Amino acid sequence: MSALRLPPLPTVRNIIRIYRLQAVKQLSQNFLLDENITNKIVKYVGKVPNSEVLEVGAGPGAITRSILRRLPKKLVIVEKDKRFKPTLEMLQEAYKTVNGKVDIFYDDILSVDTKSLFSAENARDWEDDCPPIYIVGNLPFSISTVLIIKWLHAMSEQRGAWAHGRVKMTLTFQKEVADRLVAEVEQPHRCRLSVMAQAFTTPKLRFIIPGEAFVPKPDVDVGVVTFVPLARPRTRHEFKLFEKITRHMFSFKQKKCIKCARTLFPKVSQIPMADELLDMANVNPNVKATYLSVEDINRITTAYKSLCEKYPEIVGYNYRASRRVITKKDTKSVYIQDYDEE
Ligand code: SAM
Repeated sequence: MSALRLPPLPTVRNIIRIYRLQAVKQLSQNFLLDENITNKIVKYVGKVPNSEVLEVGAGPGAITRSILRRLPKKLVIVEKDKRFKPTLEMLQEAYKTVNGKVDIFYDDILSVDTKSLFSAENARDWEDDCPPIYIVGNLPFSISTVLIIKWLHAMSEQRGAWAHGRVKMTLTFQKEVADRLVAEVEQPHRCRLSVMAQAFTTPKLRFIIPGEAFVPKPDVDVGVVTFVPLARPRTRHEFKLFEKITRHMFSFKQKKCIKCARTLFPKVSQIPMADELLDMANVNPNVKATYLSVEDINRITTAYKSLCEKYPEIVGYNYRASRRVITKKDTKSVYIQDYDEE
């Protein structure tokens, strides 16, 4: 590919003015206009030249430009809002002049099959180095947690983009969510998200973008987090079961973890069963949930599975449903496990 000279395009600020793009709150549209910041995000993406990159929610395209300047072989954009079509197509045309490829899908990232976006020739075996395939996005706040859990699930089963190997992600989150994703044992932000992210990846908080850098300015600062999938995940349990146990074990962060463990069992037997569970898992019942490591949760999951075999009646128990007043309309959902990915 010859050197890239993107033709002079209007600045992102002008594009917003020209296309009268009003940030839509529902789509969590907070745009980055500072090239130094978008270049810095892209620096963490990986070895972009000649790679394939997926950008989620390109908006008016500031991060997109920073990616294209690094000359990927192919850039795939998934953007829900069609109002960005003219802007993004200008960049697509400009990139053609250096024989580069930009594919644009106006779609909801939550329903896109990410496997089909990349070519099989770049795939690597799971335990090999990461493939030259990257995912980057200044994510809408409204979907960032659901999306990361959905993608961790796909990663755990080597589906979607992760059918091509250990695809690295560089994503933004509200600072507080970013803090949670990377919180270590004993840190105050430690929660379900920390355990889930750290069971399957090495999440790193790279830098903070102050709210003032966005247009319009959100109420919070934003953290840029990279996730490299682990060659050997720290749990081999089925994702939904491991997530369920993690969620229950963090149901009361400030109380002893034995209280959390009790939420896994029906009221009549919860005290002896939770004692048996933590005893089997060799976990101190008196520590707070924030002291639990991924390995602790993994052992609790193993112990829970054994208890389910011993006492099949606990399998369908649903704590949240048991605390609701169940109306006739509700009864169908009682036996469905709580799970907030889909
Ligand atoms: N990347 C741009 C930037 O940094 O200036 C825009 C970031 S803005 C926080 C989030 C973008 O994601 C918006 O362009 C919005 O339209 C888009 N978006 C929102 N929900 C989406 C979804 N479910 N799937 C794909 N894109 C979405």
